[in-house]
This record gives sequence, structure tokens and C-alpha cells, in this order.
Amino acid sequence: MSDRLSMTACPVDTHTMAQALNLKVQCHACGYTMEGTAKYGQGHYVPVGVEFDFVATGKIKNAQGKRVVKGEVTVVCPSCTVKNKYLI
Ligand SMILES: [Zn+2]
Repeated sequence: MSDRLSMTACPVDTHTMAQALNLKVQCHACGYTMEGTAKYGQGHYVPVGVEFDFVATGKIKNAQGKRVVKGEVTVVCPSCTVKNKYLI
């Protein structure tokens, strides 16, 4: 995992089955810091801040033993328009 990536996937909300994703990454090309959040779950996807695409590839257990989604994030840098890809 890249040391430029700081992303946390919060435990699934048992009421809405939505999972909050918090993204904070640096652009590979220009170093611009991009921050955004999104909710993932049951087909709902509501990005806030920098828009990014999230494709779930499965579920993992985090340090607290809660099930969280893992997947691939694609975000276009608003500064230089380079497409960055990260795995969470
Ligand atoms: Zn950039």
C-alpha cells in the first residue's frame, strides 16, 4: 500500500447498510492533496468533496473485527487532471 494513501473505511452502519469512505490522497503527478468522502452500500453512492469512483472487490475485517468493504478508488486530480488509482 502506498504511503501517500490515507483512507479509512468505517464500519457498516447497520441501520442503512451504508459505509462511509473517507479519502485523503496525494496526486501521483503533482502532489495535490485530494480529500473526499462517499457513502457506499446497497447501490447508493453519494460523493462529497473531491469526486472519486469506488469499485468494491470484496469485504475484509478491520482491526476492530467489523466487516468493511475493500476495493479500488479512481480519482481525477482537480489540479492537473491526472487519473490516480488506489487500492483500499
Ligand atoms: Zn495532480
